[in-house]
Amino acid sequence: MPKIGEEEEKAAVECIRSRNLASYEYIVKFQEDFKKYIGSEYALAVSSGTAALHLALRALDIKEGNEVVVPSFNFVAAVNAIKYVNAKPVFIDIRKEDFCLNPDLLEKCLTPKTKAILLTHMFGNPCDMDKIMAFAKQHNLYVIEDCAESLGSEYNGKKLGAFGDISCFSFYGNKYITTGEGGMCVTNNEEFKKKIDSLRAQGKKEGRAERDRIGKPHFFHDFLGYNYRMTDLQAAVGIAQLKKMNKFIHDKRRVINVYNELLKDLDVELMKEHDGMRYNFWMYAVLFKNKEVRDRVVANFKKYEIPYREMFPVELPVTEDVFNRGLILPDSQEMNEEEIAFVVEKIKEVL
Ligand SMILES: *Cc1c(COP(=O)(O)O)cnc(C)c1O
Repeated sequence: MPKIGEEEEKAAVECIRSRNLASYEYIVKFQEDFKKYIGSEYALAVSSGTAALHLALRALDIKEGNEVVVPSFNFVAAVNAIKYVNAKPVFIDIRKEDFCLNPDLLEKCLTPKTKAILLTHMFGNPCDMDKIMAFAKQHNLYVIEDCAESLGSEYNGKKLGAFGDISCFSFYGNKYITTGEGGMCVTNNEEFKKKIDSLRAQGKKEGRAERDRIGKPHFFHDFLGYNYRMTDLQAAVGIAQLKKMNKFIHDKRRVINVYNELLKDLDVELMKEHDGMRYNFWMYAVLFKNKEVRDRVVANFKKYEIPYREMFPVELPVTEDVFNRGLILPDSQEMNEEEIAFVVEKIKEVL
């Protein structure tokens, strides 16, 4: 869980005291900070991660008759967004070592209607971007990165979100950083940036920020738009949160390192950081030998009131296997070594 401190409080108060909650000043600053953090050309703040995904699909003109390849082991938002534009989701199975889509199965999902791959960096684990980007290039597909869980994770020294045509982030309450609700689209393509800027503001010819700068409102709309804007108050909090990213990742990795050490000799499959990658470890999921063991661990956790989360339910063989054997362990950045050891003790009791 993201930690809200005095910095966020100060930022929110400062924004209120400006007496203008729609000045766009904080939004512009948050976008600037965010694109620098990711290393991309443009960042556009929006009202949620789901809105970001919807806008990405609209900006790429994905519509009825198109197919979008999407991992089956997923949060539902990406699939909802594909449905919003009346395109068809084509589910692809995952790899159990990183919970991300298996690039070797892409070929099988391809049809003449395939327009894009909408990948999810599950639990913050980077997808196999080299393989996925090469496949997309070869078959002329767009790539949208769902980075809602992967802020700060790196692949070959580059931040996730810097690879796809458009990448989408979420600042919902349980994400790495939060603005309560909120999201961000990131891209290097000026045309996509303009499209998203307009779509998030009711399809105005030029988006809200542009309009304010030239001081001339536009009330002519060429296409269907939305009100998907973020507020300055949210952006003010987001600016303060983003400054803490290095500390958040450091604290989370401390917890995960203790777990890995304590669990390393047990019959449990752990998420391993592949070479050249840096996970943010947004959620720490492990796989037990089989469903029966996993269910006994769950029962023991319940008895000792240890929080846990089950996996996302879906079909396709690896996804089902992971759903049956997997468990997300309590992994709050504030956990101390004793608390982590207690959780591991309760796993050991079962194994
Ligand atoms: C949280 C999440 C989203 C949706 O973000 P919201 O801001 O809640 O709309 C999308 N995809 C994934 C993988 C998520 O975890």
